[in-house]
Amino acid sequence: MGQMKSKIALIIIPVLLALTLLLATSVSSAWPAPARQFIVVIDAGHGGKDPGGIGHQGVKEKDVDLAIARLIEIEALSEPELKIILTRRSDVYVPLRERTGMANRLGASLYLSIHANIHSDRRVRGTETLLPESWKGRSFRSLTLARNLQANLVRELWSRDRGVKYQRLYLRWSQVPAALVEVGFLSNPEEARLLQSISYQDRIARSILASIKDFLGLRE
Ligand SMILES: [Zn+2]
Repeated sequence: MGQMKSKIALIIIPVLLALTLLLATSVSSAWPAPARQFIVVIDAGHGGKDPGGIGHQGVKEKDVDLAIARLIEIEALSEPELKIILTRRSDVYVPLRERTGMANRLGASLYLSIHANIHSDRRVRGTETLLPESWKGRSFRSLTLARNLQANLVRELWSRDRGVKYQRLYLRWSQVPAALVEVGFLSNPEEARLLQSISYQDRIARSILASIKDFLGLRE
């Protein structure tokens, strides 16, 4: 009797497997392919030999930047129109020219660099978005992107709005619309605590993703 059962199982299992496979392929072919895929380059600031800012209780900026960049990539998995390329996926240093070079070479729709801030006064807090000084009065696409990022982040995080600012930045090498977000201050004990929590990092990631979709006209 036991032998009979195992014989039936021998027949039924392959049949079930074949059916599952058939169903899976028919479902995937019915799924509409995106009309266009936008390449978005996300840069986690610093890395490797360059820790970035060292914040409250020794937190390293490079680790926070990478965690947020990776969460953006994960959140974008449910967006078939977006192809996220990270400039680094681990604790390595990538030269700045190479980072913007990636976006230029790929003809990306936009380049976004993720950073966290440091100030000698630990009371200083808030979010700001930076653009290269040399883009002042031009690169209006990047200014639109920066303003949207800044507004969405401040609203989502309830953080102090430090605005969109122009600074001397390597981002000037980008030939595609670009911005750099400073999501908060690691020198501020409260923001350092928040910036190390996955739930806060994920709120940042989702807010940034919403801005990317706004910029690309992918939001209903
Ligand atoms: Zn930085």
